[in-house]
Amino acid sequence: MNHSLRQLAKGLADVVFPPVCVQCGEVVEGGALHHVCVRCEAMIHRVEPPNCTTCGSPFFGEVEGERLCPHCDGMRPDYAEGRTATLFKGAARALIHELKYHHGLHVLADIEAIVRASPHIVGFVRDAIIVPVPLHPRKERERGYNQTALLAEAFARAAGGDTRVESLLRRVIDTPSQTAFDRRARRENLKNAFALRSGTTLTPTLPYILIDDVFTTGSTLNSCAGVFRRAGALNVRVVTFGHG
Ligand SMILES: [Zn+2]
Ligand SMILES: [Zn+2]
Repeated sequence: MNHSLRQLAKGLADVVFPPVCVQCGEVVEGGALHHVCVRCEAMIHRVEPPNCTTCGSPFFGEVEGERLCPHCDGMRPDYAEGRTATLFKGAARALIHELKYHHGLHVLADIEAIVRASPHIVGFVRDAIIVPVPLHPRKERERGYNQTALLAEAFARAAGGDTRVESLLRRVIDTPSQTAFDRRARRENLKNAFALRSGTTLTPTLPYILIDDVFTTGSTLNSCAGVFRRAGALNVRVVTFGHG
């Protein structure tokens, strides 16, 4: 189908099945996003500096010289800096949920639009090599795709320039769901969970940015960053769509 036909088909589909908001279920009319209504879009918390340089969460109020949030204070991450595009709640959370659990590949354009409108993120990832946190092959087969790889592509499109995505990591251990564990247990579980794909050599000076959908404890991203560090990468950062 050529482009204009596809547009027409989509236009017709929108009339018959108008897109509903992933957050509140109302019909989406107007606004910059196709799957988030204007009201819910306005409530998306887009992170702007000042922010914690490890997890990316924003500082509120007086922050003279502050660089780390209380949660990250004392952590020694294996990466130089982390940023997040949004706080992981409301429609931001609903978009990722749709992508991850409902085969919601159609929301990627909205995610891209949110990132594109964020100079804080565009400037951070532009011209870097974005590396998605991998799923275990078994899980990827089950789901049919790795949502983080698709997210990485959306970030790369939003940032433009020479930004590119390279899937350099593989998950060697099928880690159990992380939600049931405390911080130390998570770290233990994730130790040696990731490795470089065979045949991968890193260029120490290239800018690598590891990406995940959400920053919770940071242990997954940090475990991936450790792999890069040990392989000699000197310029490793992390980015997430949401913090929560
Ligand atoms: Zn809504
Ligand atoms: Zn932090």
